[in-house]
Amino acid sequence: MAATRRGFLGATLALGLAAWQPAAAGARVTLSRLQPGVYVARAHNAEVLRANAGAVVPSLVHVTRAGVLVVDPGPHAAWGNALLGAIRALTPQPVRWVVNTHAHPEHVLANAAFAGLRPRPAFLASAATAALMRQRCADCLDHLTAQLGRAAMRGTAIVLPEPALQAGGWLQTGETAWQVQLHAPAHSASDTVLYAPQLRLLCVGGLAYRERVPEMQEASLQGWRHALRQLGALAADTVVATAAGTPAQTLVPTLAYLDALADGIESALAAGHDASHALDAVAAGPFRHWRHFQARHPLNVQRAWRQLEDSWMQGEPPG
Ligand SMILES: [Zn+2]
Repeated sequence: MAATRRGFLGATLALGLAAWQPAAAGARVTLSRLQPGVYVARAHNAEVLRANAGAVVPSLVHVTRAGVLVVDPGPHAAWGNALLGAIRALTPQPVRWVVNTHAHPEHVLANAAFAGLRPRPAFLASAATAALMRQRCADCLDHLTAQLGRAAMRGTAIVLPEPALQAGGWLQTGETAWQVQLHAPAHSASDTVLYAPQLRLLCVGGLAYRERVPEMQEASLQGWRHALRQLGALAADTVVATAAGTPAQTLVPTLAYLDALADGIESALAAGHDASHALDAVAAGPFRHWRHFQARHPLNVQRAWRQLEDSWMQGEPPG
């Protein structure tokens, strides 16, 4: 069992480097088994690009005796339909629950593929994520269509979740109980985490990255660090996030990167430096080989500087 898991995790890393590409019109989804009844869709460990057709979210599939749970079904109907096909090949159990961890389009717009199922699955999110999706999904759909092209997004309609997940609550899927955590703001305005203690499995949406520079366009640096410190204290062997891995491969390095941003910028502010020194202030050496470093890291430094400078001027203690 342990060997199987290690083997899979190695394969996940290799995938990011391989030239595996689903065609836009007929996406192909392969499910990799993490443990009995728990699978993740193989996805590119990369930002959304036309070349990867937005297939960048390792959707989680959990098969139980009471039906199937899908967390973050993906970017569009084509991916969702292919995911559904892969689930059908595994089990005759109906998809009963679809969870949206946060309101980023590549995670949620494939809800469309599951809305026509009978019985209809429950689409679940936190109140904040449901409200954000109501507000923004139309714009997000336009934006993703402009990015990926009409053919890739064909059949993708907006399907909104119910605001049913509450912090500290539990989601029961068959024999598995998932503790619900909300972190707001963190990677996005509100991030939902599902934690199955008996499976030692954490599903954290956009809160952790693996060998890839995190996206912080809507992030709170301090909120995200706080969330990762809390998640790191949980007993877990496997994390499903923007890639799958162990906590040491996902939660730990993501926090190390965010800590490096915070520590470097706080020291620079304390020394009276201005924003023109921001990039030099951060000790980024350990992260230079991460994907998207050249493009993404300078944007993150700018955002982190603005947030920490604001706190600094308001006399708040460092996070
Ligand atoms: Zn995200």
